[in-house]
Amino acid sequence: MAPLFDSHCHFAPGDDIAGVLARAREAGLSGLLAVGGDAAADAGARAAAALAPGFALPAFGIDRTEAGSIPDPAALASRLAALEEAVCSGGAAALGEIGLDYSRGDDAASRARQRALFAAQLRLAARLGLPCSIHSRDAEEDTLALLRENLSPELAAAGRAGSLHCFVGSAGFAAALAPLGLSFGLSGIVTFRSADALRAVVPLLPRDRILIETDSPYLAPVPLRGNPCEPAFAVHTARRVAELLGLPGDEAFALFDANARRLFAPA
Ligand SMILES: [Zn+2]
Repeated sequence: MAPLFDSHCHFAPGDDIAGVLARAREAGLSGLLAVGGDAAADAGARAAAALAPGFALPAFGIDRTEAGSIPDPAALASRLAALEEAVCSGGAAALGEIGLDYSRGDDAASRARQRALFAAQLRLAARLGLPCSIHSRDAEEDTLALLRENLSPELAAAGRAGSLHCFVGSAGFAAALAPLGLSFGLSGIVTFRSADALRAVVPLLPRDRILIETDSPYLAPVPLRGNPCEPAFAVHTARRVAELLGLPGDEAFALFDANARRLFAPA
């Protein structure tokens, strides 16, 4: 089987990280993006990268769940300084995960804090020349507005601005994101019985912007639903996406791998 890159997964310090990485290699993965976002996820990403340098590429960030603990511009500035230090000293391949989530019905003040945090990190990524791994849920309009304002024009032109991880958006959202240089991370959701709408969008995505991800430990794909997810399971999602694109498995896997490497591991 051709190689495959898991473009978005998480590790936690107490996990059997070495075992998960070994099973990922056995499954034929060529690498993965170990994504942070809070203290535990950042530590997991660092641990995975230390165990498998060049295979587990770390991403560090301040996820929207942290926005409540960042009440004012001074607090934001100090968190950003710490993030920049972590990114630079830790050899991060990306910033992430970062973004907006309005699915919990947060009030206007909490949404404003999420937006300030997201915009500041997009600007940091632009300054550092790094792609982002982006979360967007029930917030398409504000996500688009902030991406348009803050993404690096150079990275956007090179198609290396980042990925909308766990993409489940509409064809319209995808069409607005593609010109901004963004890629689309497809998770195990694409295999779920209820995901007909997403499966209809997949063939409309630009092929050179399609990534496979697990978002492990969440969202195990069919036929492994109900298990704790891990990067090795990405092959099931990739096979399903290959079918939707009408591509032979090997060709599709090579495409997904090349797309992820262009973004997170450029030569
Ligand atoms: Zn995630």
